[in-house]
Amino acid sequence: MAYEVTHIPGDGTGPELAEATRKVLDATGVEFQWDEHPAGVDVYEEEGNPFPDRTLESIKRTKVGIKGPTTTPVGSGFRSINVQLRKELDLYACIRPCKLYEGVRSHFSEVDIVIVRENTEDLYAGIEFEEGSEDAATLREALAGLGATVREDAGISIKPISIFGSDRIVEAAFKYAEDNGRKKVTAAHKANIMKFSDGLFLDTARKVAERHPDIEFEDRIIDNLCNQLVSRPEEYDVIVLPNLYGDIVSDLGAGLIGGLGLAPGANIGTEAAMFEATHGSAPKYKGLNKVNPTALMLSGVLMLRHLGEPEAADRMENAIASVIKKGDKVTYDLKPTREDPTAVGTSEYADAVIEEMNA
Ligand code: NAD
Repeated sequence: MAYEVTHIPGDGTGPELAEATRKVLDATGVEFQWDEHPAGVDVYEEEGNPFPDRTLESIKRTKVGIKGPTTTPVGSGFRSINVQLRKELDLYACIRPCKLYEGVRSHFSEVDIVIVRENTEDLYAGIEFEEGSEDAATLREALAGLGATVREDAGISIKPISIFGSDRIVEAAFKYAEDNGRKKVTAAHKANIMKFSDGLFLDTARKVAERHPDIEFEDRIIDNLCNQLVSRPEEYDVIVLPNLYGDIVSDLGAGLIGGLGLAPGANIGTEAAMFEATHGSAPKYKGLNKVNPTALMLSGVLMLRHLGEPEAADRMENAIASVIKKGDKVTYDLKPTREDPTAVGTSEYADAVIEEMNA
């Protein structure tokens, strides 16, 4: 029976990447019934809503989706669809493997880390008070009553981190480690400064670690972790982080393995799972058939594993790895220089992966 999957092409370079990925997923032989729905700036311009109800309803029904990136206008327009989606579907665990494939130019010889980012709390909770607003003034007054001074011309973002949220994300990191033969979980934080939010995250992580004695546990202060990741990434395995640090370290991880074009992701929740690349919509390359679809394709590999199709997942991942290793039919970002005339386009790269899978 075919798997029904919600397919969201997104905007910017999203539709090209999503099409290339769908083509490869179809070529695995696993049967899909794609339920395609829009999200992003294009549908916002047409319908005044960047995230139509029909898109959300589809994911709620199919419980699994794959999504191209969507643009979030800075400072105005609408709130991030990704943040909205994670909230609506309680997609609390963002799993981002960062694996260095042979043939990719990198300063490192070995990187195979998995970033597990909390997706619903922290400074991404959307609890914000605009500078000059009545609400910000009310909050400032309340804080003054508690002995905390905030400047009159301040905007305020609140950082909630709960025991519930920390427990389930650290539990997800340990479960991932156990299910995937990983040996160690590192919790990252700034508990020395933010004692009641990051401190709580760390305390909770230590308690969760006690429930998993077979997996090694350690913690790192976030700045130290960044330093160590760019000098000795081979020492890290699974890394669990609150939302904001997880976001930043995800891009750092992508840098370690050859760039954003290679970094996949999965957002797993209680209601559904949504698979998408770490990178954004790279709008300047829109419609050029140029950017690298590997990140979204590897997100598709994660989706195949989630659906219980490990054999197809292995075949697809091996085919991608083989195309990268051969290095001739790859996109510009994987060539020795960005202007390399032998670089292929997004769709030709997908064809090369399919050819490799059928070889
Ligand atoms: P971006 O990830 O879109 O692009 C930054 C740069 O990285 C690009 O200019 C390009 O050089 C490179 N890059 C990204 N993806 C690549 C690929 N597949 N292949 C080759 N090179 C690639 O980041 P940005 O420019 O900061 O963000 C653009 C928009 O995307 C913003 O509106 C942002 O909010 C949004 N965004 C969306 C998501 C998502 O939908 N999940 C995630 C991050 C950012």
